[in-house]
Amino acid sequence: MSFVFAPCPTISVPIVGLAERFAVHRIYCVGRNYAEHAKEMGFTGREPPFFFMKPADALVVAETGQDTAFRYPSLTNKLHHEVELVVAIGKAGTDIAPEDALQYIYGYAVGLDMTRRDLQNEMKAQGRPWEIGKAYEESAPIAAITPVAQAGDIAAAAIELTVNGEVRQASTIDKLIWSIAETIAHLSKAWTLQPGDLIYTGTPEGVASVSRGDTLTATVTGLSPLIVRVD
Ligand code: MN
Repeated sequence: MSFVFAPCPTISVPIVGLAERFAVHRIYCVGRNYAEHAKEMGFTGREPPFFFMKPADALVVAETGQDTAFRYPSLTNKLHHEVELVVAIGKAGTDIAPEDALQYIYGYAVGLDMTRRDLQNEMKAQGRPWEIGKAYEESAPIAAITPVAQAGDIAAAAIELTVNGEVRQASTIDKLIWSIAETIAHLSKAWTLQPGDLIYTGTPEGVASVSRGDTLTATVTGLSPLIVRVD
């Protein structure tokens, strides 16, 4: 087969302890999945989960044991950090029952759902799509994926983000409004999950702005940390 120009390279994420890499298909993100974050965004209560996507090439991939960096994006004066647990899907499935959902997980990673909050808020106010706020280039830093067998008890793990060493976000995965299994069940009713899909599961409270020169350190206990500089 020949092409009129070179095809895009396959986007992939390293896997802890393996030479093989995780080839990325889609990136799904869950909105407002921690109660305290829902409140700080002006919402209350347990609404049904809702989803948005980022393109696979929005990833900024930290190689195992290395820091990474992204460029401060255009058009914004309010670039927010959102530290998130990322679920990596390992097999295809549709209409998955919550009790079966964990079987579809390949592993877990630490990610950042970087958000041009000013642009997202404008789009929200006008009832327009969020892509310009959420799905821009380099909006999804991610660290290496840890296979489930080595990840420990993720459901109860601590999740934290520091900026220049100062704690900005600190919570635990058991505070997710919709658990990992429930999220997979809901998502798979709307889309056929494929191996290579990543699910950013939502951020706890404490989202705030970052500036050029800041260093973000995102952690989930048991997973490879993500250290990212804003250039
Ligand atoms: Mn998010």
